[in-house]
Amino acid sequence: MAIEREKVIPSQYIPEVGSHVETIGRKRYLITNDAMYTFYRRTKGEFSDFFLALRDDKKLLGCKCSRCGLVRVPPFLTHCPDCNFAPTKLVEVKQVGVMNSTPPITYFATSLFQHIAPYGRGRVVFKGADTAMSTLLYTTTGILVPGIIRKGTKVKLVFNDERIGDMTDVFCVPAAELRKEQIEQKGLQRSEIDWESPAEPALPPASDADLAACREILGEVKAVIEEMNRNERARKDIAAWKRDILVKTRGAQFGIYIGDGNIRFEETGPAAPDFVMVCADPRTLLDGLAYRGAITDSVINKKLWISKNMEFNTIFKLDRMARSVARSKKS
Ligand SMILES: [Zn+2]
Repeated sequence: MAIEREKVIPSQYIPEVGSHVETIGRKRYLITNDAMYTFYRRTKGEFSDFFLALRDDKKLLGCKCSRCGLVRVPPFLTHCPDCNFAPTKLVEVKQVGVMNSTPPITYFATSLFQHIAPYGRGRVVFKGADTAMSTLLYTTTGILVPGIIRKGTKVKLVFNDERIGDMTDVFCVPAAELRKEQIEQKGLQRSEIDWESPAEPALPPASDADLAACREILGEVKAVIEEMNRNERARKDIAAWKRDILVKTRGAQFGIYIGDGNIRFEETGPAAPDFVMVCADPRTLLDGLAYRGAITDSVINKKLWISKNMEFNTIFKLDRMARSVARSKKS
C-alpha cells in the first residue's frame, strides 16, 4: 500500500484547476487559478549536530567555550568571540528552564503557521545554559491566554513525536502542569502528555434572576444562530467544518452543532463534544455571535474559555459568520 506522505505545501492550499466569477459592484470578473512555484533545499550546515540530536536522540545541545566556560544554547558559535575565538565544544543541557521574558502570543498567524496557532513564542534559559533559546510555548490547560506563561515561569521542553530536525520539533509547557516524573523525564514527547482533560473554570452559582435572564439570552442566541444558518455567506465560512460544541454558562448548558455547512443551536449539549466553551455570562457569547465585539477578543480577554487551544480556529470561524451576516445586511 502506498504511504501518503505529507507535502511541503499542504494539499488544502493547492487550488483546483479552473475558474470562477467574482462579482464586485455589479461587474463580473473572471478569475482563473494559476501557479508559480519554487522549492529549495537548505543545509543546517555546522548546526547539523544540534538538529540531529533533537531529532534522533531527543537531546538539547549547547556549546561551551573551552576558555570562559560560557554555555550557549542553541550552539550557534563554534568559537567564542569573548575569548579571542577559543574553540567551543558541544555539551548537553537539561530540558527544564525558566522564561527570561513574558512571551507574546500569536492568535492570528500567517498561513505558514496557522496549523500551530495559537502559540506563545519566548526565550527560555535551560538549566546548564547561560543564554536563552527562542521556543514555541503551549499550555495543557485549554486555550493559551496571557498570564499562564510569564517571565520567571519554569517550563519543560517537550518533543513532537514526529521530528524532522527543526526548531518546531520542540516546544515548552509550564512545568507546573506536569507530574514530577514527567518534568524529570528526558525526551518527554507530546503524546505522553494529557491534552484532553484540562480543568474547566468554575461557574458561579446562578440566582433565580440569573436563570430568568439566561433563558431570555439563550432565546436570542438561538435566533442569531438560526439567522446565520439562513445566510449563504455565513454558511460558506463553515464549509467542510464539523464540530459539536458544548457551551456551559451560569445557569445553563447547551450545544452548538456545526456540520455540512449548517450551524444549529440545541438545548441539549453533545455527550462527546469536540470541545467545551465556558463563559460565565451568556451575553458574552451572544454579543460575539451578533457582531457586537469579537468572540476571539473575549477568549483573549479571558471572558470565554475553550478547552482546546487549536479550537481557536472554530472561534475565529464563528466571528467570520457574525461578520458575514452583518455584511449581508449592509449590502
Ligand atoms: Zn569564551
